[in-house]
Amino acid sequence: MLSGVRCTISDCYFWKEGHYCNAKEILITHDEVGRKFPESMDAPQIDQIVAQTGPTEAYYCYDTCCKTFRPKT
Ligand code: SF4
Repeated sequence: MLSGVRCTISDCYFWKEGHYCNAKEILITHDEVGRKFPESMDAPQIDQIVAQTGPTEAYYCYDTCCKTFRPKT
């Protein structure tokens, strides 16, 4: 469980009762990056996108998203 991460996306595979995230790591990025890479990402893909994208600026909290989301099956 990721310490300090609270999440309400209960349809996510990593979501845990009590609104916690059970992923090993997550990627939060700008919505523009999210639209560019619409699929869910695992750890190696996160490393690749971080290296490729670099820092991104956001002016509003609604400009950001979690790219580790994976639907429950
Ligand atoms: S991976 Fe993202 S969407 Fe899924 S539980 Fe963790 S923080 Fe929430």
